[in-house]
Amino acid sequence: MNLVSRLEQIASQKPDKRAYVFETTEATYGELNGAVMKFASGLAKLGVNKGDHVALLLGNSPYFIVSLYGAMRAGATVIPINPIYTADEIHYILTNGDVKVVIALDLVIPTLMKLDGRLPSVEHIIICETPQGKEHGIVLPEKMKSFTTVLATGEVPFFGPELHDDDVAVILYTSGTTGKPKGAMLTHKNLYSNAQDVADYLKINEDDRVIATLPMFHVFCLTVALNAPLTNGGTVLILPKFSPAEVFKVAREQKATVFAGVPTMYNFLYQYPDGKAEDFAHMRLCISGGASMPVALLKNFEKKFQVIVSEGYGLSEASPVTCFNPLDRPRKPGSIGTSIMNVENKIVNELGEEVPVGEVGELIVRGPNVMKGYYKMPEETAHTIRDGWLYTGDLAKMDEEGYFYIVDRKKDMIIVGGYNVYPREVEEVLYSHPDVVEAAVIGVPDPNFGEAVKCYVVSKNKQLTEQQLIAYCSEHLAKYKVPSSIEFLDELPKNTTGKILRRALKEQVVSQSGAQ
Ligand code: AMP
Repeated sequence: MNLVSRLEQIASQKPDKRAYVFETTEATYGELNGAVMKFASGLAKLGVNKGDHVALLLGNSPYFIVSLYGAMRAGATVIPINPIYTADEIHYILTNGDVKVVIALDLVIPTLMKLDGRLPSVEHIIICETPQGKEHGIVLPEKMKSFTTVLATGEVPFFGPELHDDDVAVILYTSGTTGKPKGAMLTHKNLYSNAQDVADYLKINEDDRVIATLPMFHVFCLTVALNAPLTNGGTVLILPKFSPAEVFKVAREQKATVFAGVPTMYNFLYQYPDGKAEDFAHMRLCISGGASMPVALLKNFEKKFQVIVSEGYGLSEASPVTCFNPLDRPRKPGSIGTSIMNVENKIVNELGEEVPVGEVGELIVRGPNVMKGYYKMPEETAHTIRDGWLYTGDLAKMDEEGYFYIVDRKKDMIIVGGYNVYPREVEEVLYSHPDVVEAAVIGVPDPNFGEAVKCYVVSKNKQLTEQQLIAYCSEHLAKYKVPSSIEFLDELPKNTTGKILRRALKEQVVSQSGAQ
C-alpha cells in the first residue's frame, strides 16, 4: 500500500465522501481520485516516466493535492518547494534536484523567467492559473503549458507504472544547519507508514475535518494535515494562508475537528481578540509541532478554547513524526510525548551509547519513517544515519514513563563560562511573563564568559523595561542563565512555516558587530 493506492481504495469504497473543501469549492474522493488519475495520464503523455523529478512551486490549494498525488501516480518523485523562494533559491533546488517538470503558480512566472536558459534539466513548465495572477495581469508565456490543458489531455482509467515501497516518492529540501539545503529522500513506505502511524496514534479517521493552513510544501502539513486525513477518509479544510480570522471562520462553518499548527500560530490565535471557544466547539484535537510549545501558552490556549493541545515532534528526515503526546494516557505539557507506533526514539551520548533516564543527550530515531538518505550526498547521509539510526541534532531527555522532552537544538546551546544554557529554558520563563507575546534567546560573544544570553522579546506592554524583565528572569533562573541583555522588537523573524528564526537574529548580531 502507498498513498496513491490508498486514495484510490477510499475513492472506490466511499466515492461520495468529501475529500477537501477549498474556499467555495469542494471535491469528493471520487472526484479527487479521478482528477489525480487524469493529471497523471496527462503527465505521462508529456513524457514523465518512472523516477523523473517533478517540482511543485505551489501554495495550499487543490492544485497542490492533484499535482502531488498525480505525479506520484505517474511514477515521478515530487519535490515541493516554497513558491516565495527567490530565483537563486529555486535555481539551486531545480538544478541540484535534476528536475524535469515544474508545476508552478502563475504568480511564480516572473521568478521563473529570470531563470530562463539556466535550467538545463527542465523540459516542461506547467502553470496553475489563479485569480490573483489574473489581477496582476500575468499572462502565460508560449513555452509554458497550463495545468488545465495538461489535465484535459489525460485519459482515465490510467494505471501508471508499479510503485515500490522503496521508490523515492518525495524529496524535501531542508535548510539544514550549514551549507546548502539537502534533499531528504522519502520513499513511498516512509510517507505512507508515517501518515498511518500518526493517524492511528491521534485517531484521525473519516469523521475528522482537518484544517490545513500550515504550508503543504512543508512535511508537517504534508503528513499530518494532508496525507493522514486523506488516507483515512477524512476531509481536508484547505486554507491558502494562515490568518486567525480565517481559522476561526472555517472551524465554525465547517465544524473542524482537528487543527495542526506551529506554536507561533497558537500564539496568534490566542491573542486574536475575536477568537471564541464556541468557534472551536467541534474541535477535538489541536496538534502542535515544528518548534517547542511554551508551557504557559499551551495551558492558556487549552483553557481559553476548551480544547486539547497535543504536542509532538518530528523532522523532515523522519517523514516527519516520531513522538506525540498520547490521547489515551496523560499528556505532559512541555513534553513531546511518547514514541508513536513503529518508531523508536532513544537518547545517546557522544559515543552513541544510551544515557540513563533523565540525562540529556542527542535524540536518535529508527523506524519505517526514516528517510532513504540525502539526494546525491552520500557523506552527509552516512553522517546522519548510523547503524540504521537517524541522528536528529536535537538534545533531549526521557522520563521514567517514556515521555521525551526536547531540550534544544544541539547547535543552539549557549555556553556561559563553561555552563550549558538551553535557550528554550530561558524562553519558557519569558513566555510565563504576562506581558510577553513572543521571545527568542540566542548566545552572543562575551569577552569574559565566552558567550552571554541575549533575548529578543515582543511585549504587549510598552512600559515594560529591560531591567524589569531581567529581574523577573532572576527570580526563576540560576544566575548564569539570566539574560545579560534584552531587546524589544515589534516582531520576530519567522520562516514561512511560522517557526521563529533564531538563526536570523544571530546573523543580525554578527553583521552588526562586523559593521562596528
Ligand atoms: P523540519 O525538518 O523543518 O521539520 O525541522 C525539524 C526540527 O524542528 C527538529 O529537528 C527540531 O529541532 C524542531 N522541532 C520539531 N518539533 C519540535 C518540538 N515539538 N519541540 C522542539 N523542537 C521541535
